[in-house]
Amino acid sequence: MSKSGTISEQALACVNATTIRDRGSANMSKLYFYYSAMNAGKTTKLLQSNFNYKERGMNTIMYTFCMDKDDNGNHKINSRIGLASDANLFDVNTNIFLDAQQKMKDAKINCIFIDEAQFLTKEQVYQLCRIVDELGIPVICYGLRSDFMGEPFDGSKYLLTLADELEEVKTICHCGKKATMNVRILPNGKIVDRGQQIEIGKNDKYVSLCRKHYMEKNLG
Ligand SMILES: [Zn+2]
Repeated sequence: MSKSGTISEQALACVNATTIRDRGSANMSKLYFYYSAMNAGKTTKLLQSNFNYKERGMNTIMYTFCMDKDDNGNHKINSRIGLASDANLFDVNTNIFLDAQQKMKDAKINCIFIDEAQFLTKEQVYQLCRIVDELGIPVICYGLRSDFMGEPFDGSKYLLTLADELEEVKTICHCGKKATMNVRILPNGKIVDRGQQIEIGKNDKYVSLCRKHYMEKNLG
């Protein structure tokens, strides 16, 4: 089965859950976490899944992490293959539960997507649980499992603990094994092994490696 097929099924599962809820049955919504190393195509999958909802006439909202404090208002999520969508920005102070509850007053929300979910705080992961359990809206998160120092991101740690459904979006190391780790590389080719966890995606390059080659700092 192709990965995109899997995602479509997940989206359909949400569609079905929403339909069931509309009939007044139990809340079948779930919190999903799709995790991976860098460059695995997470954002492409997120946008594809969002497109599946839109195609069925459903309303979704998206959030992505605000890297730049001056960048307020709307933001676009872009994938490497050219798909794009408008997104709301969250930072560590955003109460996503209250924000979603407010947006529900304007329009029915069928699903919420979170990109860069590794940057969620513990409190925000709990807020997503409340969106699923109390508001009955499925929440689909995409994020990195660990940073370039091999440390877990808080958002991912709590999503791995609390999500109803977990799925790994796979990518490969230069050796052909599954890549589970990331290294950050400076423009001069040097591997960075310390620094701020949150500088992801600025000027440095990231390479995904299997654990063995990550430990050896072997870029192939
Ligand atoms: Zn390897």
